[in-house]
Amino acid sequence: MKNRWSDQETASLSKTELLVYSSRLIGLEDQLVLWGGGNTSIKLQQQDHLGRSIRVLLVKGSGSDLKSCQLKDFAPLRLEELVAAELHEEMTDEAMVDYLNRCLVNPKSPRPSIETLMHAFIPYDHVDHTHADAILSITNTKNIHKIFEKLFAQDMVFVPYIKPGFPLARAVAKAFKKSPRSRGAILEKHGIFTWGNSAKESYQTMIEMVTRAEDYVKNFRPNQPPFGKTSSTTADQCQQNYLEIAPKLRGMVGKIQKFILNHSCPPDVVEFANSERGNVISQKGPATPDHLSRTKKSCLFTQKDWVKDLEKYQRDYEAYFARYQDATMKLQDANPRVLIIPQVGMVTLGKDIKSAKIAGDIYQHTIDIFKNASTIDEYESISERDLFEMEYWPLELYKLSLAPPERDLARHIALVTGAASGIGKAVALRLAEEGCHLVIGDVDEARIRNVAQEIKERCGQDLCVPVVMDVTNEDSVKKAFGQAILAFGGLDILISNAGIAMPRSITDLSLEEWEKSFAVNARGHFLCAREAIKIFKTQNMGGNIVFVATKNVMAPGKDFGAYSAAKAAEAQLAKVIAIEYGHLGIRTNIVNPDAVFGDSRLWSETVKKERAEAHGIPVEGLEEFYRKRNLLHTQVTPRDVAEAILFLSTNRSAKITGCTLTVDGGVKEAFPR
Ligand code: ZN
Repeated sequence: MKNRWSDQETASLSKTELLVYSSRLIGLEDQLVLWGGGNTSIKLQQQDHLGRSIRVLLVKGSGSDLKSCQLKDFAPLRLEELVAAELHEEMTDEAMVDYLNRCLVNPKSPRPSIETLMHAFIPYDHVDHTHADAILSITNTKNIHKIFEKLFAQDMVFVPYIKPGFPLARAVAKAFKKSPRSRGAILEKHGIFTWGNSAKESYQTMIEMVTRAEDYVKNFRPNQPPFGKTSSTTADQCQQNYLEIAPKLRGMVGKIQKFILNHSCPPDVVEFANSERGNVISQKGPATPDHLSRTKKSCLFTQKDWVKDLEKYQRDYEAYFARYQDATMKLQDANPRVLIIPQVGMVTLGKDIKSAKIAGDIYQHTIDIFKNASTIDEYESISERDLFEMEYWPLELYKLSLAPPERDLARHIALVTGAASGIGKAVALRLAEEGCHLVIGDVDEARIRNVAQEIKERCGQDLCVPVVMDVTNEDSVKKAFGQAILAFGGLDILISNAGIAMPRSITDLSLEEWEKSFAVNARGHFLCAREAIKIFKTQNMGGNIVFVATKNVMAPGKDFGAYSAAKAAEAQLAKVIAIEYGHLGIRTNIVNPDAVFGDSRLWSETVKKERAEAHGIPVEGLEEFYRKRNLLHTQVTPRDVAEAILFLSTNRSAKITGCTLTVDGGVKEAFPR
């Protein structure tokens, strides 16, 4: 492993800057730590709130990631008080958390790592902890003791598996006392600690030990492939196969709460999925207890019939819970987080796309560890009882309970058509603010990409995928809905919005214009709704469609023949869908806006000019004219329409279907009746 330390870059850094520097170096290497894993610390003199100089332990807090950490992500604790905990024979998890809280120098600091006491009990100034792949490839073997003797005994202490928290901190401290010249500890089926008088020393020991493990693994040439016979499947084929199964899979795992799905099929994962013995190794357990909350105790490795296998996994999980539970515990959801499917690859589940991808990243490293451990020896994990204890560890559950409540559209997937401007864009932004995952479609490639970028900047996550989509074209529509499945696993909401206006009197209207209006304003809605309903039916979790129509459906205006007639067809279609699919929990509603300008492309300069002429007013007076025309004398914006659509998209409108909601400031001729 590359030693990334630079004396030049660190020459003028303070002690705390060095802590951040070395933590980031560790975080940079995904072979050392992944997504919030690992922790680092420093011991130094600091002033408390009374100005007294005291010894402080600065340790990484929960919820931050080493690769991007800042000083504020570290919790300062009174070292003298932490060290005193070593005198305790026992300490429950709750007592330990309470103890750590009382030692905090700054009560507003992040929650200190559950491995804090281990950092405190080691008398060196710098301590680093990782779950390095190469180390886990060795700690998770049957003959770990022999390998340890050969590789690490002269520098490191060995700590047999013990649950993280107070017992592990004491065990490491005890082992250190026996070998005070040791430079770190190898933790069976867990990871590695290194320490030193400087950040550089501790970091370099980490790199040295991991490299030693890597070199050891490299020396082995397996006689036979570690997972038995295997075959390859092209990425295209894997994707095709995934498209076939994803909506049904999402429905099956989403009976209690919805999940977002992520699919990945790099060659090493597919090789594992198609292998003879992957199903045996993968059931032995995770490589470190730290991965348990992301990947569960084992993946679902499917054989011939993935549906039956998934049902069996759910039943087995319930039985596993029943075996070890006590009366105070509640069953966590019985679904796997990782599914390995031959000819498909890996599917991971999460509350959002980020957590689904994190589970995938972690499992890809786990496959590598399986491979290496089985090459040098035989892969092993901790016992099922220990796994249960970790999975239902009150501290893990407590951590989950601290997460903020989920937003209205978290775990949901929507497709919005005509999303590059106007109402479509405003809806996409509004849904994203509520945590919705989005596929946004438009014929204008450059503009739809910009909207996706804007959503990313505002909502901070990769929850939006732009697609170039022509709603009048059957293939293009199919592809766009396929994108929703590929990106997130399925669909919950369709906002059928794309539309065009074509103001002409009937005699001035060409057949081509008439048909174009029907292609976009009627056929487009049919094609999109049909694809959405197919996915909804397969998922079997209900569904929701909002059609953006117009006030003209109720009250047409002159020169809008092609537009109003096609939009009336759209509204009729919406009502028929509500009738046909209500029994499946599929809701369908209509929004009728009027005179929404904003950045709408419906109101092109030509349309504006034409409308101004029709009303006998100057173009500049058009918005004012429409404002005065409605009962509230108000201007209707895309954001106003988006609010109404949001209401119809969420469970707040759970009992509403086949309904028309006007967003027009009140136009009495257009009241639904
Ligand atoms: Zn750990």
